Amino acid sequence: MKPLLVILGAGESGAGTAVLGTAQGFRVWVSDKGQIADRYKREIEACGAEWEEGQHSMDKVLAADVLVKSPGIPDTAAPVAAAIQKGIAILSEIEFAARYTDALLIGITGTNGKTTTTSLIYHILKQAEWNVGLGGNIGQSFARQVAQEQHDAYVLELSSFQLDNCYDLRLDIAVLTNITPDHLERYGSMPAYRASKMRITQNQGPEQAFIYCADDAETRLALSEYPPKAKTYSFSLQNQARLGAWIADGCIQLNTDNKHTTQIDMKDFTIRGQHNQNNSMAAAIVSQLVDVRKDSIRESLSHFENIEHRLEPCGKFKGIEFINDSKATNVNSAWYALESMDKPVIWIAGGVDKGNNYEDLKPLVRQKVKMIICLGMENIKIHHAFQSDVDMIINTMSAKEAVHVASRLASSGDAVLLSPACASFDLFDNYEDRGRQFKEAVRNL
Ligand code: ADP
Repeated sequence: MKPLLVILGAGESGAGTAVLGTAQGFRVWVSDKGQIADRYKREIEACGAEWEEGQHSMDKVLAADVLVKSPGIPDTAAPVAAAIQKGIAILSEIEFAARYTDALLIGITGTNGKTTTTSLIYHILKQAEWNVGLGGNIGQSFARQVAQEQHDAYVLELSSFQLDNCYDLRLDIAVLTNITPDHLERYGSMPAYRASKMRITQNQGPEQAFIYCADDAETRLALSEYPPKAKTYSFSLQNQARLGAWIADGCIQLNTDNKHTTQIDMKDFTIRGQHNQNNSMAAAIVSQLVDVRKDSIRESLSHFENIEHRLEPCGKFKGIEFINDSKATNVNSAWYALESMDKPVIWIAGGVDKGNNYEDLKPLVRQKVKMIICLGMENIKIHHAFQSDVDMIINTMSAKEAVHVASRLASSGDAVLLSPACASFDLFDNYEDRGRQFKEAVRNL
């Protein structure tokens, strides 16, 4: 009899895994505790897999030869815990799909900058006419693409949740953008979080490349704990790299062969801020490693369209600029957003605090922020953290209210920045919902 593949969670990655699993000769059974979207039901049925929704039938789960679970389902969830106890192999979609492709695999992880860096690399390779797919946490399921499209390379955004169930995955090129506190509710401690991020390089050898941020202390610590066997390249805003990228004279300086240093002029780059210089350096190293020409890298970085909810300019009203950085769900990303501001800022912040320590933000707030508008149910920590740094802190309970208050109190030449440093689940469905409501409120001014 064919082996049984059980898939827990029927979202984009689960449905894609069903398509690949049936194509690879598995019997496939998909189980979702919630309701499955109609389009995924149709896709699962069309490929000959079976499904259930509203529950997880334990007897079926425990009959699995292989189990692929959605990254959002924790190991403590009953069916996963039972499967672990029975010794069933539990894989992420990425691990499963990677087994069935010989394409070049480029994977990007890190606390912040994954989507931006992944999108930059994909954009550069596409412009260089590579037959390349985009997957992981972003876009279409990697598994479905492996089943239905023959790409020569994949650029994969990998969250730590996805890496947690990767065992044999070997990336040709791995990028670790940075490691800062986030998701500690799941990992419990920084050592555990570092360990999870370093899984990205665990199976790499000297034939593969590992790219990291040399300025990041947590990353340096992680490297000393888990020395990579891959060939390493670093990027830095502060120091010249031995192999990798650094910034000098308004250019990315790129040296990946220990011989030639190439300059890529950043003058026309479309994305701004130090964090995006880091992301661009990481993308430039990857691109040079796969032999994309320097002019092509520069051209692509000069025509990259900003991604929604990441320092996204979303309109001007009476000379006041509005910027949507709703994706900034932790302190570190808000730090980079504030750092990149060159106008007086009305800062909209707050939401669900994930154990934030605001200390690092205080100097920037003193220097750049005129007033803070809290957008969240619980704002007391923000008041305590910044009451001595700004003249005014105001509480609001909706994006519309926050935008209205901001537009009344801001002056021409100011920037209103939504960069919450917090998750959004108190007042919104998710960060996209928060960003969209913000933009709509700005449009309606
Ligand atoms: P991720 O996919 O890792 O969440 P994104 O590229 O979506 O990262 O960016 C998330 C947030 O972090 C945005 O607010 C963005 O402005 C900020 N950010 C992007 N790149 C970096 C970086 N390299 N370091 C710190 N913050 C960053």
